[in-house]
Amino acid sequence: MSEDSRRIALVSGGSRGIGRAVVLQLVRDGFEVAFCYRSNEEAARQVEKEVAGLGGRATARRVDVTDAQAVKDWVASVEKEHGGIDAVVTSAGILRDRPLVLMGDEDWSAVIDTNLTGTYNVCRAAVFGMLKRRRGCVVNLSSASGVKGTGGQTNYSASKAGIIGFTNALAKEVGKYGIRANTVAPGLIETEMVVDLSGKALERALTVISLGRLGTADEVAGAVSYLVGAQYVTGAVLQIDGGLMV
Ligand code: NDP
Repeated sequence: MSEDSRRIALVSGGSRGIGRAVVLQLVRDGFEVAFCYRSNEEAARQVEKEVAGLGGRATARRVDVTDAQAVKDWVASVEKEHGGIDAVVTSAGILRDRPLVLMGDEDWSAVIDTNLTGTYNVCRAAVFGMLKRRRGCVVNLSSASGVKGTGGQTNYSASKAGIIGFTNALAKEVGKYGIRANTVAPGLIETEMVVDLSGKALERALTVISLGRLGTADEVAGAVSYLVGAQYVTGAVLQIDGGLMV
């Protein structure tokens, strides 16, 4: 692929789970990928190696998405190296589940800061360059919890509902400049984030999923890949949940 035709994607939280699957899928789609992680360096280096095994290139950098300056520096260095960013996918996210009456202020802030403000920080830093180049797209990871609300997850549901509002507003704001913004709202996906779900809780969850199984990170990555390529889709919320919300 020539230097001019190479497309660049930026992925937050690309070291594990859905973000990792997105990195690998976008590389298969012909992107060179810059991704960030918070602390798990070993997992990040492993993703770089897997990408090299596919004949592609992905570069990991330790960047906490809650740190606006670190995100700005990361985005600026990717833009400087590659000349611009064609696609942004925000997958960095955490859970701190508790009933509201037991929720600590720190549980609330950590989830809002990482999931919602982290998404803002990445988009705020990357969209400016897209506006200048009059092209690009954003795919933000929300959740079924953000569409419907889930008991025990007021912090998480608020952050994920916020991401839907944020992304739809962004789609309206930047569409006239040729930039698209969409949301993916996964249901229950088999990653380390839901590793604690087992036994009765898992059985209960499966009864409300029409397809009767958890989803895979690759299935979510396929949806992200679709939205990155779908030139006439913007402001969409694509539910990848096996019928959880039917
Ligand atoms: P994982 O816990 O498997 O992976 C989370 C990723 O985010 C890791 O790469 C982690 O880095 C990174 N990360 C976390 N906090 C930060 C931070 N402050 N700065 C930079 N990177 C960070 O999560 P999933 O893959 O399961 O989830 C990915 C996204 O999808 C999240 O936004 C989640 O809310 C959403 N989602 C997940 C669902 C599921 O069932 N799994 C369902 C619906 C939505 P590190 O490896 O260094 O820790």
